[in-house]
This record gives sequence, C-alpha cells and structure tokens, in this order.
Amino acid sequence: MSVPVTSRRHVLQATALGVAALATGCAAIGGNTKPRVVVVGGGWGGLGAVRGLLAAGAADVTLVEPNESFMSCPLSAHFIAGFQPASDFQRSYARVDQLGARRVRERVLEIDRTKREVVTGTQRLPYDFLVLSLGVDYMEESIQGYAEARAQLPVGFRAFEQMAVRQQVDEFLVKGGNFVISAPKPPYRCPPAPYERAFLIAEQMKQRGTKGKIIIVDANPNPMPMPISKPILNGMKSLYSAQIEYMPNVDIRAVGMGKRQLNTSDGDIPFAHANLVLPMRAPALIRQAGLGERWAAVKLPSFQTQADDRIYVIGDAQGTPLPKSGHVAFGSGQQVAEAIAERIAGKTPVVATGEVDLPLGICWANVTHSEAININVSSTVSPGEPPKLKFTVDPEHNARSGAAAMSWGTGMWKAMLG
Ligand SMILES: Cc1cc2nc3c(=O)[nH]c(=O)nc-3n(C[C@H](O)[C@H](O)[C@H](O)COP(=O)(O)OP(=O)(O)OC[C@H]3O[C@@H](n4cnc5c(N)ncnc54)[C@H](O)[C@@H]3O)c2cc1C
Repeated sequence: MSVPVTSRRHVLQATALGVAALATGCAAIGGNTKPRVVVVGGGWGGLGAVRGLLAAGAADVTLVEPNESFMSCPLSAHFIAGFQPASDFQRSYARVDQLGARRVRERVLEIDRTKREVVTGTQRLPYDFLVLSLGVDYMEESIQGYAEARAQLPVGFRAFEQMAVRQQVDEFLVKGGNFVISAPKPPYRCPPAPYERAFLIAEQMKQRGTKGKIIIVDANPNPMPMPISKPILNGMKSLYSAQIEYMPNVDIRAVGMGKRQLNTSDGDIPFAHANLVLPMRAPALIRQAGLGERWAAVKLPSFQTQADDRIYVIGDAQGTPLPKSGHVAFGSGQQVAEAIAERIAGKTPVVATGEVDLPLGICWANVTHSEAININVSSTVSPGEPPKLKFTVDPEHNARSGAAAMSWGTGMWKAMLG
C-alpha cells in the first residue's frame, strides 16, 4: 500500500534568499563524511523522518529511542478491549538497522544547541540537523492527587502503556462496577480515542454480560473534534445506551484512591476503575532546549523551530493546529527528510508564495471491533496566515471503514518498519 502523505498543489517558488546561510555550517558538507542527522523518537514521526532520510542516502542517520521495539497507539483499542493480541500492534526496529540507521537505545536528557549535540546518559551525539518527534507528556498536575495514583491509573496514550490499561479492562469485564473514562479539552493526542476506547470496552461488556457501566466524563460540551460529534453520539446512543453514560462539560478536579472517588465540577463520582486521559503537552526536553512552552513553536510549512533553523519538531510535540495524528506525524517526518536532503545537496531553499498543502491526517474511530468512522483532515497554509483545516467524516460508523482502518494500519507499519 502506498501511503498518501501530502499532495503539493502549489509548487514553491525558489528564491535566492538565504541559500548560503542555510547550506553552510554543516560540519560534513564538502568533506568526506556525510552530514549527521539525529532523529530523536522512534514513533510515527521519527520513523517517517528516518525512512525518508535513509531513502535519500544523503546523511548519516542516528535514531535515538529508548524502547527496543515499536508499539502503535492507533488501533490499539482492539488490544485494550481484548479483541486482538498486543503482538498485532508491535513491530521490531530491525528494518531501520538493516537500512543503515545507527540506533541508540537511550533517552535524550538534554539538547546542547550551542555545541549542536544531543546528550544521553552515556554519550554526546553531534548533529548537523536535528529532528525531534518526542510525542506527548501528561499534565499530571491538572488533577489533584493524580501523581500519587499514577501507577493505579495508567493513561495508556503512549506506546506500551496500553498493557497496564488492558489489565484494568480485564478486571472490569469480570468484576463490573463503574469504569470512568475521561476526555480532556483539546489539544491532545487523537481526540476521538477516549470514545473509541469506551466503545470497544462496551462491546465486550455486552458480549460477556458485565454488570456495570462506563461513564465518559468529558471536559468538552460534545465529543471532540466537533466534526465527529454526531457520528460518535449516534454510535453511543444506538449501540451502547445500556453500557455508557455520557457526562459532557464536566471537569475532573481531584482523584482519591482511598474512597476510589473523583471530585468533579458535577459532584463526586465513585469508580471501580478509571482511565483518566489527562491534558497533554510536549515533553520537557522541548522547554529545556528553549524550543517552546506547552508545545514546540514551529514554522509552517517547514516544521523548522522558530528558535533554531537546524532543528525540526514534528508529530504531536509541535504546536500548530494540525491534528495530533500518526498519519500527520509520519507525513511531516517524510517531508522534513526531503527538505534536509535538499539542504545537504545545497539546493536553493524555497519560500512559499501561495497556499501550500500540509501533511494529511487520517484517523479512525472504531465504534465496534469491525465498524469505524473515518476522519480525513486535509490542511493548507498560506504565508502569514494560520493553517486551514478541512474535515471529511463518515456520517456514521460502517464496516467498510472498519476494514479500511486495519489495512491503513498494516500499510503504515510497513512504511515505517517493513
Ligand atoms: C488510542 C490512540 C488512538 C490513535 N489513533 C490514531 C489514528 O487512528 N490515526 C492516527 O493517525 N493517529 C492516531 N493516534 C495518534 C498517534 O498515535 C500519534 O499522533 C502519533 O503517535 C504521534 O507521533 P509522534 O512521533 O509525535 O509520537 P510517538 O509516536 O509517541 O513517538 C514518540 C517517541 O519518542 C520517544 N521519546 C520521547 N522522549 C524521548 C527522549 N527524551 N529521548 C528519546 N526518545 C524519546 C518515545 O519513546 C516514543 O517512541 C492515536 C493515538 C492514541 C493514543
């Protein structure tokens, strides 16, 4: 399957501006060795960049990622709800090793922009260009008591954390009671995901006759993002009215594990299990390196940081209004790989003079194990203006999108690691 990432409707106009400035200063340009590109984060965006850079062959590519393998968040609700094994959503990094990337299995602790080095626990890695695709961090302080309860209340919106959520779901399906799932205010990773998770767990409740209910505590007035509200509410009412209670416009203030109770703007809610999806921000490394506050400040369409032209931030950690989606992250990774290869080749940097297409977003919200709502987001940006987003959404969940979601996943994992 070929993966559509973007279609450039407007060819960018070349200008002489800044050519020399951008091409110079690369330690290795003109020498015998290739320029060094360090990619931090082996998730959706990082792998888009790594595969693009390896295909271009213009740089020495280092991928820094602490996990030994990749696990997908997209489609992982099928694992969390017990329909499919974890192995369906995991892949080895062997392919990027074979293609010639140097893989460092460590966490980056610091970025030294003056020396152009990333610092891990054991080494300093010099770079000519740096691509950061770090994903998200949780704002634990937004719910009083959460930090102390962290181990019992896994969020499961980052790779491998799904295992702990699955344990909670397994227990709930046997014992029943109240299972609270919360949705924060955007921006957060994959807004439809809390509802999708609730739907697939509710489907299992029906199949297994679990006595209890799922309470969706939503900080928003309706399911997010707005264009998908109707099909999500339709799925909730038509299939799960006995299993799901929906509470819109409710903020969670505190959690107490003693009484197993949430304190909210609508009173106290007792729970047997809870999956609190917290508000999110970029990981602390972004702030440490002076690249942004809640999110990294980047320029569009290039994804270069406003603070440093040699550093690109892609994926969910960047702060544009683009959807926080794996498809967008992968597409932006491919795009910045191409741009870096062009800079290394000394090609004239281009400046957009008209509307430019940005990486596409393709998201899926499964309503049952076999039926999904497809959400496509195409985005454009014009110089000096904020990006414009256009949503195309299935009017209701259907089996065709259910099958398409699975083949999309298989195609994306192949593009990343096949
Ligand atoms: C339940 C769920 C369902 C989803 N469904 C969809 C969908 O249908 N379609 C879709 O397009 N998207 C979907 N998404 C969103 C998608 O998962 C994210 O948008 C995507 O993962 C973002 O890619 P990323 O590269 O920014 O972050 P990630 O894929 O999370 O990768 C970040 C990587 O950086 C590494 N890292 C972090 N800090 C450091 C450090 N200091 N040093 C080294 N490495 C570091 C992490 O270990 C991680 O591997 C879903 C998400 C969830 C949670």
